[in-house]
Amino acid sequence: MSSNAKQPEAEFQDTPHDREELGFATRTIHHGFDPAAFSNAVQPPVFLTSTYGFASVAANEAEAALGGRLYAREHNPTTEILERRLANIEGAEAGLVVASGMAAFGALTLSLLSQGDELIVHRTLYSNTVAMVEQALPRFGIKVVPVDLAEPANLDAAITERTRLVYFETPVNPLSAVLDIAAITERAHAHGVQVAVDSTFASPALQRPIEHGADIVLHSLTKYINGHGDALSGALLGDAETLHKLHETGLRYITGAAISPLASFLILRGLKTLTLRMERHSASALAVARMLEEHPAVAWVSYPFLDSHPGHAIARKQMSNGSGMLAFGLHAGFEGARRMMDRLGLITRAVSLGDADSLICHPASLTRARQPIRKDAHMVEGVGEDLIRLSVGLENQEDVIADLRQAIEAS
Ligand code: PLP
Repeated sequence: MSSNAKQPEAEFQDTPHDREELGFATRTIHHGFDPAAFSNAVQPPVFLTSTYGFASVAANEAEAALGGRLYAREHNPTTEILERRLANIEGAEAGLVVASGMAAFGALTLSLLSQGDELIVHRTLYSNTVAMVEQALPRFGIKVVPVDLAEPANLDAAITERTRLVYFETPVNPLSAVLDIAAITERAHAHGVQVAVDSTFASPALQRPIEHGADIVLHSLTKYINGHGDALSGALLGDAETLHKLHETGLRYITGAAISPLASFLILRGLKTLTLRMERHSASALAVARMLEEHPAVAWVSYPFLDSHPGHAIARKQMSNGSGMLAFGLHAGFEGARRMMDRLGLITRAVSLGDADSLICHPASLTRARQPIRKDAHMVEGVGEDLIRLSVGLENQEDVIADLRQAIEAS
């Protein structure tokens, strides 16, 4: 073991790129990484190690005071660059990156909530988050209270002295509905309750919930932040005290859901083009939404930056652009959706979202297909059998529109 081992955290102390006056896109590329501290490598190194040697017992004692960097479940330099960068661009004090978005939700709830506590959630959530709040958390004595947060005043009746956290997505998966972060947060805070927002559908390039008062932000990094469909990960961003709890209890010994440093590297790489990608996703999705809105076979379209969207004014207040996610239904309903899906030639039939490739799914047929093996599979509250969810990718928008149009017209 070398005797001139670095002081813990020396490689992260105030890198030359940590100036707060730098623009958002610049920080997605540079924040938190000083090449001079890593052999002048322009790209962050991938530290494939499960453990870290210490020079002496005394050196270990000194490191322990700084958080103990002994083992890769708790610390990895590549992941730490990602955590610092994400916290910075989200406007948070600290960040935690774990193995998936669901691992982030698990770390959040199992670290902050205990038996007898109450969690308020919006009535519509990503389907596996629904499974967790309906099936898993109650087994551990955590009461989950679904509320329609489209009307923030509903919170007043739902909050009790046992309420510890309010959790919702905006835009909401898969509806692309929009919830008012500032209004919900104001009411929750009036009762001393923390608010966590899943901002996966927007990404920090378009929406930063902490700027609207939220306490914690959750992302599935699997989606827009990585953007290339080749890694799973999730993040929690917020104040330093809460993040310390999430790291020390959630990651260290409850979920243990550490991300591979190779995935952290891929996500750091993807993040560098987030700003550009979100501009393109948003422009193409708006064009697709307008085409669908005018098409006679289409019954409804939900896209936050369409004037017809019920949450349009809220979306304009808290998002800088509409993102690439939209939902729509055909007059031909469930069967029409199945037929249309099968006629697509370019857009990929797949779950997930936020990739360069356009991805489309029909939750009702996915749910029916799952029921023989997962008896509890059911449609999420508020999601109709006709709903088709589209993640508009980075292809030429005319090609995406042409593929949709021919599939709709042939069905
Ligand atoms: N939150 C939202 C809004 C999602 O859409 C997803 C996944 O689709 C998740 C969380 C879970 O993330 P992951 O798939 O990375 O576990």
